Amino acid sequence: MDVEERRVLLRADFDGPLTPASAGLPGGVADDTRIRAALPTIEELRRRGARLVLVSHLDGPQAPDPAYSMRPVAKRLGRLMGTPMRLAPTVIGADVVDLTELLGPGQVLMLENVRFEAGETRNDPRLASALAELGDLYVNDAFASTNMVHASTSGVARLLPSAAGRLMEREVNALSAIVDEPARPLVGLLGGARLADKIGVVRRFLELADVVCIGGGMCFPFLAAGGHPVGQSLCPREDVGRAGAALREVAGARDRLVVPEDLQLASWGSDASAVSESLDGVDVPDGRLGLDIGERTAARYAEAVLTAATVFWNGPMGRFELPQFAGGTHVVAEAVASTSATTVVGGGQTVDAVRQFGLEESMNHLSAGGQAMLEFLEGRELPGVEVLRSDPPIQSGNATGPEPDGPAACRTLTRGSSGRG
Ligand code: ADP
Ligand code: MG
Repeated sequence: MDVEERRVLLRADFDGPLTPASAGLPGGVADDTRIRAALPTIEELRRRGARLVLVSHLDGPQAPDPAYSMRPVAKRLGRLMGTPMRLAPTVIGADVVDLTELLGPGQVLMLENVRFEAGETRNDPRLASALAELGDLYVNDAFASTNMVHASTSGVARLLPSAAGRLMEREVNALSAIVDEPARPLVGLLGGARLADKIGVVRRFLELADVVCIGGGMCFPFLAAGGHPVGQSLCPREDVGRAGAALREVAGARDRLVVPEDLQLASWGSDASAVSESLDGVDVPDGRLGLDIGERTAARYAEAVLTAATVFWNGPMGRFELPQFAGGTHVVAEAVASTSATTVVGGGQTVDAVRQFGLEESMNHLSAGGQAMLEFLEGRELPGVEVLRSDPPIQSGNATGPEPDGPAACRTLTRGSSGRG
């Protein structure tokens, strides 16, 4: 894409925790991970002479609300870039168009929180058109929002020549490397809380991977489906049905699935100071619940990781927020950090755990994709990615303006080869 002197509308993902406003002082950015993650695309576009217009959501207000203003984000980003930027008073409108026209090459304007517009989540064509007035080209770097069909991720992409940003490109490439002809053995480590949230990914990995190690709360439906008592462990009845169906319906699933052989338990009803007791085996007595995989299981999962060529990990192996139940997650994290395999790690709490252990620099790719990552791995089409691959608009809407660049220059995402979907 030739972006020099063009107004580039960049959809970024600046959604992150804010510190609450107090005593008349405005709130601030509590965690700037996502702001930092957007920097490579922002800096590259500035270097290449783009006139940059940034748009993002922040939390989910339904109407303009100063508590969700982009102001703290604009301030933090300005500091990280080493140059202050302007914040538009609203998301769209004639005044905002004027502000975009005033931008010089390399200068940046941030729009207000796109969720201030009710049309955003409805993908209202009027909002999409109003957003398209604010740029000559559109770049989407908000991978975590690509599972939604919103005006700023989908509608506007149909109206302007579009491309993926660097972060989006990295996410799609890293996740494609897991599902499209991965180096083998491919090992999936799947954990977390509820099987219901992840069953699509579990089934996909049972088809795709050579070994699937299950931990976290999710192991109990599989253990229950195998006839083991689970005590008071996290194990909704519907999830036992889901686990059993996956084992029956996915050919070869029983050969690939590895479940815990020992556990760490707590007493039912105990609090954060719960004593962790080892169980040699997986028959959880009544009055107890499993909150971590056991030592032998952790060693076995680590061994699988160390002999893998590709590893994907989503979901903590236990209640790692409590130190006495963090052991399994820690052992697995150390193995993922030290294996010579290509490693892709994702999921909100999984990334938190990796950070807590100080291992984030040792992973090949830490995905911030959340739900979009899970859907991509399941093989579902992500509307916000597909729209970047589809044909660009015939004309840019401004008949007297510069012609859009050739479509090939705008398509940076290549379609995977495995026939996902
Ligand atoms: P991610 O955000 O990485 O995708 P999830 O949201 O699925 O992961 O699950 C993370 C949560 O699962 C953590 O807060 C952790 O405490 C919880 N968890 C892990 N193992 C268990 C368990 N055995 N019982 C209850 N909760 C668990
Ligand atoms: Mg989570």
